[in-house]
Amino acid sequence: MDGNETGPAARHGSGNTENAPGLRDPRTKYPQPPYKSQSQPWPGLARDMDPPPDHGETSYRGSGRLAGRKALITGGDSGIGRAAAIAYAREGADVAINYFPTEEPDAGDLIALIKAEGRKAIALPGDLRDEAFCRTLVADAVAGLGGLDILVSNAARQQACESILDLSSEEFDATMKTNIYAPYWLIKAALPHLKPGAVIIGTTSEQATDPTPELYHYAQTKAATSNYVRSLAKQLAPRGIRVNGVAPGPIWTPLQVSGGATQEKLMHFGKETPLGRAGQPVELAGIYVQLAADDGSFATGQIYGSSGGGGFP
Ligand code: NAD
Ligand code: MG
Repeated sequence: MDGNETGPAARHGSGNTENAPGLRDPRTKYPQPPYKSQSQPWPGLARDMDPPPDHGETSYRGSGRLAGRKALITGGDSGIGRAAAIAYAREGADVAINYFPTEEPDAGDLIALIKAEGRKAIALPGDLRDEAFCRTLVADAVAGLGGLDILVSNAARQQACESILDLSSEEFDATMKTNIYAPYWLIKAALPHLKPGAVIIGTTSEQATDPTPELYHYAQTKAATSNYVRSLAKQLAPRGIRVNGVAPGPIWTPLQVSGGATQEKLMHFGKETPLGRAGQPVELAGIYVQLAADDGSFATGQIYGSSGGGGFP
């Protein structure tokens, strides 16, 4: 064994890693703050972010863990949903993604990437705030994929607002419609198609339990998400359907540069976490795979966190 591996340098993270290519320091693996100030109109595009987020385009490697599975992912064009979509496809699943129509550039890139790798990739744009669209979305995904056994309800609206006095009823309503009503409509429409072994995964947040002041409206929707994961897990266990959640901390995605965070917060995004940086979408991809895979079969009603050491699920 190389003496450096057990010496003080290795213990404190700056050691010699040349003998283990997969061994990388999580503090310095990805860009660290300060980040460039930047803002885009909602809902933003990953391709216009600087630095661009890492969704695993060049790094995620699959090993057949989801061979033949059929997945619908909302917000699959960018950020965490896109990382899940890439990972699912590389694990052998066919994937349908929903996104807001103005996100076509991000969605188009992803669809081309997945198709080039020989998996089915279906683009289903539309506004999740509309109940009829949610029903159509599930029906189109089922028709296009030839069934459905993974539903990832990941899309969300987050618009920071310093004071409740400045929060309009329209914004409050849009946040509730996107983050609470849409999962309800989608799950209800999907359920008749889900067989034993199927999974539902909701993206929640560390905000569910540790809300920040400017996210009063958003944070309570994430508490609702964590809560529905737990109730539905109990309700659907007798049907053999598992329901779990993922609670990210600060992740470098379009949501944050299109109104989700103040410029001040964005520039120091993730700095307060023990790892000292924002996470990248690809760092959560494996969790979405694990929660969908057959070998994760005893996990239901769970919230898996990934927040750089801050917060708690
Ligand atoms: P993102 O902007 O890449 O994804 C959010 C997606 O939501 C958008 O791409 C968009 O397609 C979709 N969306 C929003 N409103 C919609 C509507 N009305 N109709 C259709 N689609 C709509 O950002 P992200 O950070 O990857 O967000 C994914 C999930 O992660 C969200 O649930 C978010 O709350 C959660 N999350 C993010 C962070 C973070 O720091 N980025 C932290 C905790 C939780
Ligand atoms: Mg997007």
